[in-house]
Amino acid sequence: MYCRECGKNIGRVKICPHCSCDNRGKSRLTAGFLQILAGSLGLGRFYLGYREIALLQIAASLISFGTAGVIWGFIDGMMILCGTPDTDADGVTLLK
Ligand SMILES: [Zn+2]
Repeated sequence: MYCRECGKNIGRVKICPHCSCDNRGKSRLTAGFLQILAGSLGLGRFYLGYREIALLQIAASLISFGTAGVIWGFIDGMMILCGTPDTDADGVTLLK
């Protein structure tokens, strides 16, 4: 794994020993694609820790027999890939 600030190989540690920046963030790409592929189950939102939104997406899917969840999940996934939200539910900035 490489530090997102200085780009040096930091192995498995999360706090960079070179510049001491925090590399614990979750992957924006993972979250976005999870949400696009399985947004009706709120997987991308679960991954980021936004459980309330994920549960709402599941509820919307159930009420609309899947339609709303798929559309919402797709839009939500695109927004995640484009930078909204910028952090996970704990406020940690997402990695690329
Ligand atoms: Zn660093």
